[in-house]
Amino acid sequence: MTSSFPHAVTPALTTRLPAVGTTVFTRMSALAAQHDAVNLGQGFPDFACDPRLVDLVAEAMRAGHNQYPPMTGVPALRQAIAGKIRAVYGHAYDADTEITVTAGATQALTTAILAVVHPGDEVIVIEPAYDSYMPAIELAGGTVVPVQMALDDAGYHVPWERIQAAVSTKTRLIVINTPHNPTGSVLRDSDLEALAGIVRGTEILVLSDEVYEHMVYDGQQHASMSRHPVLSARTFVVSSFGKTYHTTGWKIGYVAAPASLMVEFRKVHQYNVFSVNAPMQHAIAGYLADPAPYVQLPAFYQKKRDLFRAGLAGSRFELLPADGTYFQCVRYGAISAMPEAAFAEWLTSEIKVAAIPVSPFYRQAKESGIVRFCFAKRDETLALALERLARI
Ligand code: PMP
Ligand code: GLN
Repeated sequence: MTSSFPHAVTPALTTRLPAVGTTVFTRMSALAAQHDAVNLGQGFPDFACDPRLVDLVAEAMRAGHNQYPPMTGVPALRQAIAGKIRAVYGHAYDADTEITVTAGATQALTTAILAVVHPGDEVIVIEPAYDSYMPAIELAGGTVVPVQMALDDAGYHVPWERIQAAVSTKTRLIVINTPHNPTGSVLRDSDLEALAGIVRGTEILVLSDEVYEHMVYDGQQHASMSRHPVLSARTFVVSSFGKTYHTTGWKIGYVAAPASLMVEFRKVHQYNVFSVNAPMQHAIAGYLADPAPYVQLPAFYQKKRDLFRAGLAGSRFELLPADGTYFQCVRYGAISAMPEAAFAEWLTSEIKVAAIPVSPFYRQAKESGIVRFCFAKRDETLALALERLARI
């Protein structure tokens, strides 16, 4: 197409994010669609959310909740969130001053980083890391200090001595993610103690991405930072209703933090989103009153995890432990020596099952011979994918 103004010149830019292209999730979903592959790549359910939730949104719209809600979030929703955290983790956040509703976890994470990281500050990020952390730190002018997880027979774990060694006088923030995307590992109480030992007596803050808080399996408890007295006093805890209620497209989540941290969070929040869509907030406020949906979530997803693992057990994929999230990581060394991105593309185009390489979750792509599958799918979808994967 020719431009309407052929002689007009658009000024050149210097990019603020030189290392960033289109995310691996977007690319792999496009490739899955192109090849009509079963999409076990990007993490989202292929089944519907509870119809009751949809009805509640429609009711909220009909009741006239269609104008700007309060900047911090609808009071009933903030109260419901505070009540849930108190019931589940035993920490009483003040609904007015310590809870803010956000446009998904992504906005909460970026906003928290922009609120506390100054140019020159160092931020410790544990790799492999969810893709939004590092660009947000760079936009804030901070310096990313990556520390890699250790991987042994028991799976991925955080080497706290390496975190301790990475701390300097410039460390402002440590980013934590449990249950962890992409590895499916979870932190335990001993990890929280180790982290508390590192930050106690320092000015270091914690940003804890807990979007998979209700996907922890085998009877284990989610190690929320909000449960820990030393940590909760210096942590932004982030969660997402997209994960818990099978509504990733609604982009609604929240952050909980001590009031003094929340004051700064809200200064940024009010200018990067101001407020979050009103009908969904009213709907979730009502829905959250019933704990059953999140209480039943671990059993629901554990069944899918077990079905998926059982289906791969006899295959040439080697299963890594999957203690939390809706992701299963596998080694494929017995099948191929290809780099992860090439292997994921081959799986998508030739085997017709899309996966996500783990290498882009490192600042400097690291090849581990591991890809990630998402099992938040209908059992029929998983069965079709397993039939194809087991044939390789
Ligand atoms: N953090 C992690 C670890 C995630 O996997 C996701 C899911 N995309 C997010 C944050 C973002 O959540 P949301 O869709 O609510 O922005
Ligand atoms: N969190 C999702 C995943 O890890 C993807 C979200 C996104 O596409 N940005 O697959």
